[in-house]
Amino acid sequence: MAVAIVTGASRGIGAAIARELAARGNDVIVNCAGSLEKAGIVAEECRAKGVQAQAMAWDVSDFAACQAAVKEIKDKFGVPTILVNNAGITADGLLMRMKEDQFDKVLRVNLKGTFNMMQVCSALMVRAKTGRIVNLSSVAGVMGNAGQVNYSASKAGVIGMTKSAAKELGARGITVNAIAPGFIATDMTDALPEGVREKAEKQIALGRFGRPEEIAALAGFLASDAASYITGQVIVADGGLG
Ligand code: NAD
Repeated sequence: MAVAIVTGASRGIGAAIARELAARGNDVIVNCAGSLEKAGIVAEECRAKGVQAQAMAWDVSDFAACQAAVKEIKDKFGVPTILVNNAGITADGLLMRMKEDQFDKVLRVNLKGTFNMMQVCSALMVRAKTGRIVNLSSVAGVMGNAGQVNYSASKAGVIGMTKSAAKELGARGITVNAIAPGFIATDMTDALPEGVREKAEKQIALGRFGRPEEIAALAGFLASDAASYITGQVIVADGGLG
């Protein structure tokens, strides 16, 4: 099977995607930003499914670090033909109070980080004549969300980048798709202010937050051979919120 890179995979949705891709027989690189401890546990869980897996720390917003990491992965495991851009951060605040750095850092990780990894990996995928890129957007990038002009701008940007890259890379056998999750129960949504969760649940048709595994199942499908005729799409998985 393929060599897969999942960014921001030490916890939450990324960790679930790493486990799903391993269960589907792919070797998995479990990227994280800082300490390797949690990512190491996820890599161990992947290896338990009978594939090769390694935890690797690098900052996706640092282009040179992305280049160095992907070169190391290629030399050790082979060309990565599955890339899941999952690493993401929030720094919420109302437009009128948002600091410049609050805006810049969210764009740097969520949007520039996705660009960095797509650019470095697509060059290798083109030579391999195959590839699957799955980008994590958000319903916030589709519908907007009060308190998240930075985050929703980054996630709307991911959608635009996904559609453009799909058009550029389709002829090379590479598909590029985005997933726009609604509210998923992870550390990211654990940080929501009191009352926001209850209010959100009332607006979701299924009446509950999603589980990371429910997003991972979709990412696994989009990264598989079965999704060979799907590209440039944004698939919303929000339990009927939209
Ligand atoms: P999370 O905060 O639990 O995990 C994010 C991961 O990204 C962590 O492992 C973190 O270490 C990593 N990360 C952060 N900055 C990084 C960097 N510069 N380089 C490498 N890794 C970095 O988040 P989550 O809830 O699992 O979300 C995963 C993705 O799904 C994010 O892109 C998020 O925006 C998106 N998303 C989440 C939800 C939700 O409700 N949880 C909804 C819509 C979209």
